[in-house]
Amino acid sequence: MKRIVVLGGGESGAGAAVLAKVKEFDVFLSDSGVLKDKYKEMLAGWNIPFEDGGHTEEKILNADLVIKSPGIPDNAPLIVKLREKGTPVISEIEFAGYFDTAKKICITGSNGKTTTTSLIYYLLQNAGLNVGLGGNIGKSYALQVATEQHDIYVLELSSFQLDGMYDFKADIAILMNITPDHLDRYDHCFQNYINAKFRITQNMNEDDCFIFCSDDEVTIGELNKIVLRAKMLPFTQERKVEQGAYVEDGKMYVRYGGEEYEMYLRELALEGRHNIYNSMAAAITGKIMNITNETIRKALSSFEGVEHRLEKVLTVGGVLYINDSKATNVNSTWYALESMKTPTVLILGGTDKGNDYEPIAQLVKDKVKAIVCLGVDNRKIRGFFGDKVVAETHSATECVEFCASIAQPGDTVLLSPCCASFDLFKNYEDRGRQFKEAVRHL
Ligand code: ADP
Repeated sequence: MKRIVVLGGGESGAGAAVLAKVKEFDVFLSDSGVLKDKYKEMLAGWNIPFEDGGHTEEKILNADLVIKSPGIPDNAPLIVKLREKGTPVISEIEFAGYFDTAKKICITGSNGKTTTTSLIYYLLQNAGLNVGLGGNIGKSYALQVATEQHDIYVLELSSFQLDGMYDFKADIAILMNITPDHLDRYDHCFQNYINAKFRITQNMNEDDCFIFCSDDEVTIGELNKIVLRAKMLPFTQERKVEQGAYVEDGKMYVRYGGEEYEMYLRELALEGRHNIYNSMAAAITGKIMNITNETIRKALSSFEGVEHRLEKVLTVGGVLYINDSKATNVNSTWYALESMKTPTVLILGGTDKGNDYEPIAQLVKDKVKAIVCLGVDNRKIRGFFGDKVVAETHSATECVEFCASIAQPGDTVLLSPCCASFDLFKNYEDRGRQFKEAVRHL
């Protein structure tokens, strides 16, 4: 019997182990950290041997195949050893793909993955299809392949998951955009990160569809260098296209084969220029999947959005508070600021991933009346924005109370911090929830 070792026992690893067990492999799971009780119980329930708090090399180096969690970098000593031995190391998605004949709709990009994935899932559910949601979001894809039966999957894929994918093929691949991110994991080489993102197109043929943003220079630059066999379906806000989606006179138009769909932008449930892109990608997918125009319209105009992404919290004393805690890079904050319609108090700060603030300098000048820092070390933000920075705060409550003291009725207080959250919070969800809690207490 082939031996499969799963490294990392989070949602994806535990799910992959269950699938391997169901497919009758000799499975072992190892995690260098502490496994959550939920996953310990799941593994025990399936009779899968596991360890946590460290890796026992003899139990790992004898694997025929290793499934690695996307959180473990390629240069981790154990991974280097396995590769030297010639042991294949793949991701949960690749593994589950071996056993799944369902149609796969896969979404990647630097920003907009979760929103677009959730929107497409919502659209397909509204159309009455038997669809599963997985990848970087929700329940493990492998676990669903092991224990459920879906006709279609909508999968959010990060570059780290794509790195471990070789034979997997998407039926519909969507690339939202590419801006520098996670370069620490790509030898500080942007091209390596671009290559990872483009793995979403591998193995595709003439029957498959590639949906991409043709306003994204990096994507277009790469497409000029490579040949793809898939049907090419761009979405754009800058020009008209024959196939794909474009915007004209306040309307979104979608063309696929002989099919057409159009909708006023003001009908879209999600606001902001970035969400026009996300909605266009979903609408093209809807047309490919033969969903009626009526269902597409209903879904795109009623989707409630995803927590921590430009989420309207409350209006207190005439001031609107928005939680965009997921904006952990400059590009996503750019889109948040772009969609602001009233004078804005902007909350910035956290763990800096090597930010260059230049791209938002003009928007800050035009729309932001004051910047309030929420972070441990705010020197870089102070240095760049100078007098715009009016305070440094170190907790969500302190921050929100200060913002409330300077905002006027009609203003917006926007948490869209450009930075990761680990200096003061557990993660961006924790930061967003504490922010909302503080707003509710005003
Ligand atoms: P991801 O899953 O790729 O991180 P999310 O949908 O969670 O993307 O959104 C992350 C952040 O980026 C949010 O702050 C959101 O407002 C912003 N955003 C969403 N869609 C886009 C897009 N198409 N382009 C740029 N920024 C976006």
